[in-house]
Amino acid sequence: AAAGSASARAVHGSAGRQQGYMSAWVIDQYGTNGVLRHTEEIPIPEINSSSDIMIKVNAASLNPLDVSMRAGYGAKLLKLRRDPFTVMDSESEFPLILGRDVSGVVVDCGRDVTHFTPGDEVWAAVSPWKQGSLAEYVKLTEYEVSHKPKTLSHVEAASIPYVASTSLSALVNAGGLCRDSCPNKRVLITGGSGGIGTFALQLLKAWGAHVTVTCSQNAEGLVRGLGADEVVDYTAGNVAEQMEEMEKFDVVLDNVGGNTEEWAMDLLKPWSGAKYVTLVTPFLFNTDSMGLLDGTLNAGLTLQSKAAQSFVSNGVFYRWGFYAPDGPFLDTISLLVDAGKILPVVEAQFPFSQVPQAFHKLEQGHARGKTVVKVS
Ligand code: NDP
Repeated sequence: AAAGSASARAVHGSAGRQQGYMSAWVIDQYGTNGVLRHTEEIPIPEINSSSDIMIKVNAASLNPLDVSMRAGYGAKLLKLRRDPFTVMDSESEFPLILGRDVSGVVVDCGRDVTHFTPGDEVWAAVSPWKQGSLAEYVKLTEYEVSHKPKTLSHVEAASIPYVASTSLSALVNAGGLCRDSCPNKRVLITGGSGGIGTFALQLLKAWGAHVTVTCSQNAEGLVRGLGADEVVDYTAGNVAEQMEEMEKFDVVLDNVGGNTEEWAMDLLKPWSGAKYVTLVTPFLFNTDSMGLLDGTLNAGLTLQSKAAQSFVSNGVFYRWGFYAPDGPFLDTISLLVDAGKILPVVEAQFPFSQVPQAFHKLEQGHARGKTVVKVS
């Protein structure tokens, strides 16, 4: 198959495909977009655990992590999580399927699955240590899966699960927020116009928080339309100066990283339990560059020293946020979506024949919501 250039006919044509095999976009090595390869020779995953669920994929979405994983980011740790016994084998993870969200239909279930039956329309975030959703079928466990919102198409639904699960983990587990505590809270989201930002903003508004976001000037209409109370244009000059007259915040959710910590930490209420949560962490970069043990140790020391410094200097808690699978939480989000409180933000949609173009779009940056691939 041609790297990154399969024709629509080649991608969709199933004539002559061997039984038991499926169509998928895979990589056989890490690299740039050219490593993406379409094939019809990937074995359909098998139900081999009693809690497994097999989903026929209708739509998948891409996250910045897919672009990074294509280039090898996180390879060491993710491989250990996939299969601890083959971690020394340099090629065991290939062919690797990317794609971190799925909306589709259940086609088969393990014998202990109680909440789903074949024919159910479902959505889920696919963990980075599992084979992804840029394929005809994906296999997940019951805990990871949720019934899709009835009011959304598959394409719309595929734009939400990974950013929703990450936002939950960051805002609730690391940020200490919950639906009941939000009405009294002021939250700042940096990078409010991307996948995480547009979702986290809507969730916090649905829970009653006051939300300020930073974004580019041309994204102001988008984030205001999603409910942002205050919008700060980071391209218009020093962000901290633009915000110095504002009341201080209870939580900062940082989607940007870089030097954000240097100025945003001072915007939190001191000595009142305020939290700075960043999603941009050096954890996987460290394990890639230093090895699993040294990388984990180094990341732990970095986190500890930043946390200590933030507490002593600013009186705030410093935390790292990470994606975590959570089907039951997606059930809650499904209700908010069907109640019209959270909207899907699909910026671009690509057919399955154009997965490399979808990756290219994501690599350009400046996301305004999500990029989705219609798989079937
Ligand atoms: P996206 O690429 O969808 O969005 C990033 C957004 O930030 C874009 O809209 C971009 O628009 C905007 N932006 C860029 N620079 C700035 C800036 N200085 N100030 C304000 N806005 C800015 O990414 P996601 O929302 O999906 O993810 C956000 C980050 O979180 C990524 O770094 C991702 O890798 C990380 N992440 C980490 C996870 C974890 O488990 N730790 C899980 C998921 C995501 P523009 O450039 O036009 O302003």
